[in-house]
Amino acid sequence: MPKKIQKTDEEWKKELTPEQYHICRDKGTEPPFTGKYYKSKEDGVYKCVACGNPLFDSNTKYESGTGWPSFYKPISEENVETEEDRTYGMRRTEVMCNACGAHLGHVFEDGPQPTGLRYCINSAALKLDQKK
Ligand SMILES: [Zn+2]
Repeated sequence: MPKKIQKTDEEWKKELTPEQYHICRDKGTEPPFTGKYYKSKEDGVYKCVACGNPLFDSNTKYESGTGWPSFYKPISEENVETEEDRTYGMRRTEVMCNACGAHLGHVFEDGPQPTGLRYCINSAALKLDQKK
């Protein structure tokens, strides 16, 4: 289990860029086809931009056509947290970093096999640790 990280809004504001803060702490969504990683095919591990918790492996990333980085599974179920989200009149499942609670994106049930899941994640919430 990742260690739980708790910081105040003021502390997060100092550590994150305004865009990262908007996504991770205010549960924002970046516009599609604008993020740093939606097209990325680099090998590596996508970590939480706020705390460095490893979230997704590049070998589970796939081209979903949505304009956001999409993965069919997290590195470990324990590293992410999911919760039902009923904002904006929709019923979605929110995905968060299990270590620091950062909002990452949503998970949908229209992904490829073997899981059938699509983790639709904001680039701004991720930091790619490239394999050398
Ligand atoms: Zn985190």
